Amino acid sequence: MTHLFAHVSPSDWADWRWQLRHRLRTADALEQIVPLTDDERRACAITADRFRLGVTPYYASLIDPDDPACPIRRQAIPTSAEALIHPDERADPLSEERDMPVPGLTRRYPDRVLLYTTHTCAVYCRHCTRRRKVSDPGSAPPRQHLDAAIDWIAEHPEIRDVILSGGDPLSLPDRTLDRLLGRLAAIPHVQIVRIGTRNPTSLPQRITPELCEIFRKYPPLYLMTHFNHERECTPQAAQAATRLAEAGCVMANQAVLLRGVNDSPEAQIALSHALLAMRIRPYRLYQCDLSEGTSHFRTSLRRGIEILDAMRGRTSGLSMPELIVDLPDGHGKVPIHPGHVVERAADHWVLRSYQGERVVVPEV
Ligand SMILES: *Cc1c(COP(=O)(O)O)cnc(C)c1O
Ligand code: SF4
Repeated sequence: MTHLFAHVSPSDWADWRWQLRHRLRTADALEQIVPLTDDERRACAITADRFRLGVTPYYASLIDPDDPACPIRRQAIPTSAEALIHPDERADPLSEERDMPVPGLTRRYPDRVLLYTTHTCAVYCRHCTRRRKVSDPGSAPPRQHLDAAIDWIAEHPEIRDVILSGGDPLSLPDRTLDRLLGRLAAIPHVQIVRIGTRNPTSLPQRITPELCEIFRKYPPLYLMTHFNHERECTPQAAQAATRLAEAGCVMANQAVLLRGVNDSPEAQIALSHALLAMRIRPYRLYQCDLSEGTSHFRTSLRRGIEILDAMRGRTSGLSMPELIVDLPDGHGKVPIHPGHVVERAADHWVLRSYQGERVVVPEV
C-alpha cells in the first residue's frame, strides 16, 4: 500500500464496498496517488467520453509511481494512443451483438453460450474488448433480459455450458448472483457454469466468505480469472484464490498478450508460476482483439508464437497457456501453435524438440 493510503484503516481497506466507493475516476484523483505524465493527463481528458476511468485503491496501490512503463499502470491509466483508431479496429470486433438469439446472450458455438450480466467492472482495463458497452451503465441488461435469456437456455437442451460474463459478474450483489446461479442449476441440461471475472485481480476483497458460501452450493463452478502479470498475484489475490478453491471452484486464467505489459517469455513464465502457486491453471493467452483504440497494446502474431516457443521446455506443461486468436467478425476462437511437426511422410514423422533437434518418429 503506498503511503497515500496509509491513513485508511485495515478494515476499510479489506472492505470491497469501501474499495468501490473510493475508486479513482478522474485524472485529479489519480494524481493524488501516481504523478501522471502529460500524455496520461491529456489521455484522461480525450478518453473521458469513450471509456470510463475507474481504478480501485487496491489496484492503484500496485502501481509503481516512479515507472511510467509499470505493467499495472499501463492496464489501468490511459495514454493518448487510445485515441488512435486503426482502420482494422471495430467497436464490436467479434460481432457479439449480431449473434444474439435474445438480447444479452451471445451464441456462437453449438453447446455453450455467453450471458452478459452487467456492464460494470471494478477496474476498467484499457485493453477491454467490450469497451463499446462496458462502463456504459445505460446499456446494462435489465432484469427482464436476464430472465428472458435464462428462459431461452432452459428451452435449448443442447446448451450444456453457460458463461457468465459482462462487464464483471461479481459487480452484482450476492443475492442476484445466488438467484442467477440457482436458476441455472435448476436447468437439467446445464452441466457447468463458468464465471468470467477480473475481481480476483482488481478487487480481491470481493471474494468474501459469504460469496464463497453461495458458490459452494452450485458445483461444478468454473472461475475464469484474468491475471496478466506476476505483480497482480499478491497475497490478497492468493487469499481470494484459496477461498475459491476451498469452496470447490475450479480456476483457470485467461490472460491477454499486451505489448509493454507481458510480451516476453520471462513475463509469461513468471505469471504462470505465480498462478500455479495460487492453484490457478494458466488456460489461455489471447491475442489482443481488434477493439477500438487498442493498437498500442497489440503484438504481432509472430511474437506470440515466439513467446510460446521460448516457454516450451523451459517450464512445465502445466505452465503453458494456449495462444488463442478470437477471429474477427465472429468466426470464433482458434489456437495458434509454434508447430512441432517438421515433416509428415507415409511411414514416419519428423518432429522438432523443444531444443530445436529434428527427431524421427515412426508412423504405426
Ligand atoms: C469464448 C466464447 C465462448 C467459450 O469458448 P471456449 O472455447 O469454450 O472457452 C463461448 N461463447 C462465446 C460467444 C465466446 O466468445
Ligand atoms: S474486467 Fe473484463 S469486461 Fe471489465 S473492463 Fe476489464 S476486460 Fe473489460
